[in-house]
Amino acid sequence: MDALLTDPSVSHHASRLGRPRALEVVREVQRQARQGALPAAEVVTVVATRLAGLAGSPGPRPVLNATGVVVHTNLGRAPLSEAARAALADASGYADVELDLATGRRGRRGGSVVDALLRAVPEAEDALVVNNGAAGLLLATTALAAGRQVLVSRGELVEIGDGFRLPDLIESGGARLREVGTTNRTHLADYEHALAQGSGDGTTGTARSSIAALLKVHPSNFRVAGFTASVPVADLAMVAHRAGLPLVVDTGSGLLESDPMLTGEPDARTTLRDGAGLVTASADKLLGGPQAGLILGDVDLVARLRRHPMARALRVDKLTLAALEATLRDPAAAPVTVARRASAHELRARADALHRALVDHGLPCEVVEHDGRVGGGGAPEVPLPGWAIALPEGLAAPLRLGDPAVLARVHDGRCLVDPRCVPPAQDDVLAGAVLAAAGRAGDVGVKDAGHVPPTGGHPAP
Ligand SMILES: *Cc1c(COP(=O)(O)O)cnc(C)c1O
Repeated sequence: MDALLTDPSVSHHASRLGRPRALEVVREVQRQARQGALPAAEVVTVVATRLAGLAGSPGPRPVLNATGVVVHTNLGRAPLSEAARAALADASGYADVELDLATGRRGRRGGSVVDALLRAVPEAEDALVVNNGAAGLLLATTALAAGRQVLVSRGELVEIGDGFRLPDLIESGGARLREVGTTNRTHLADYEHALAQGSGDGTTGTARSSIAALLKVHPSNFRVAGFTASVPVADLAMVAHRAGLPLVVDTGSGLLESDPMLTGEPDARTTLRDGAGLVTASADKLLGGPQAGLILGDVDLVARLRRHPMARALRVDKLTLAALEATLRDPAAAPVTVARRASAHELRARADALHRALVDHGLPCEVVEHDGRVGGGGAPEVPLPGWAIALPEGLAAPLRLGDPAVLARVHDGRCLVDPRCVPPAQDDVLAGAVLAAAGRAGDVGVKDAGHVPPTGGHPAP
């Protein structure tokens, strides 16, 4: 058995699959050979083939994102930059996570990430990194307001996806929400009125049930249009300051500074400059880093959060610290930023090249205008002008099942392959995957794989 596992045609697959599982496969094949179901001479080949079939990458499989949706929730949100991937690998062994190599003493965990965050957001006095955006909000409201009330606008009680709702999350930590205003309109006077009322149950402001903080949540995945009103951070900060209470702002997308392409999307620097005490955000949306929650702001407030017992349960591991710091060193290199800023001109050239490669191999298709989206809970309505290849709808399934898997966008009876979020170095791989899918389309019952229905949009000249 050992000789079998060290055979060059077997060992690579066996080590990828793991020894215990590989041994099971070897035993099963040997049993078949002993029973005469398999010639002894074929055992090595059969073992190698079975192991190869089982030894794909463990965990989530890589997918080429051809949807044009930059922060795609179902595809793991932000892909990491080259530098962040390298940092992950470097940190994956023993690393000086809580050791100061200069003195040999215990070091500050995540200290260099906090330094990088404070360089990127000079308006923040201190920062803390937790497991994700939801954890940041939970920790902030629990540490500042457990057993007391948090004032929040009715229009900001958001469901963030997969059935999870921010109000439930916040109340699970012990803070109670005190809603003000209405779904579509909330005014400064609504907050002032609630503060003047105190706890709202007749007890005075010093009671346990009194208001402990003001919260503003950015409605990142929807827009309320029409007759609407909400209170800007600067005005809310003034009211909070007058009441001697902290203002926590959940900005959601993790934009650190304002971006002219994303007007209306709040950023950490402006929000803190406008007077927020704490900003919470995700690191794997518009910032383009690993899954993490960022908490930035007032030094005393951050200290209260850092000392709360829950902080220990929400802390991030060394891999996240490494990838986040690498992302912060060069935010413009984050793949989400590159994909979001890709010009329509550049995307047209890539779509044309892909089109040529497919037509040259006998697959008729066309180049069509296609707007990408930021997606994933940020700037939901901002179109990102670009181009895609239009293919028959029936190709979407074989593309998903191919190797590499490709996720295209199915829209209006067509399968649209948008190069925006595919790394340009993978364009050849993408063309190969489309051709392979078209070749396989017959096997999965797709008729007319070569026929493209007429376009409703703007065909390329
Ligand atoms: C995305 C989002 C969250 C949740 O963040 P996660 O990183 O997914 O936990 C919370 N609040 C807002 C406003 C968001 O946009």
